[in-house]
Amino acid sequence: MSHRTYQTAAATGAATLGLCCTTLAINSRWWEAGMLAFVAVFLVEASARESRAHRDALARERMARSNEQEEPLLVPCCSFWTSSAGAVHAPDCHTWSTR
Ligand SMILES: [Zn+2]
Repeated sequence: MSHRTYQTAAATGAATLGLCCTTLAINSRWWEAGMLAFVAVFLVEASARESRAHRDALARERMARSNEQEEPLLVPCCSFWTSSAGAVHAPDCHTWSTR
């Protein structure tokens, strides 16, 4: 019996044992089965909440990044400002004179 075969057999045995325990609990011990179901529902809910939080965090990050990219794209006020990428204004630019 190779190492890998032993590992597979052990995993299958553990899974079968777990299945047997669950079946026993459901068939003869309703209180324990209820507790197991309660914990399972709690875990599923926690997992879903974690997944939602991760997705929301990604969306917020993406939104913040897109806002940063759009910040330099202000309203072009004059041809000097546009051609110099926001560094220089025309002498008669109204935006420049109000600053
Ligand atoms: Zn300008």
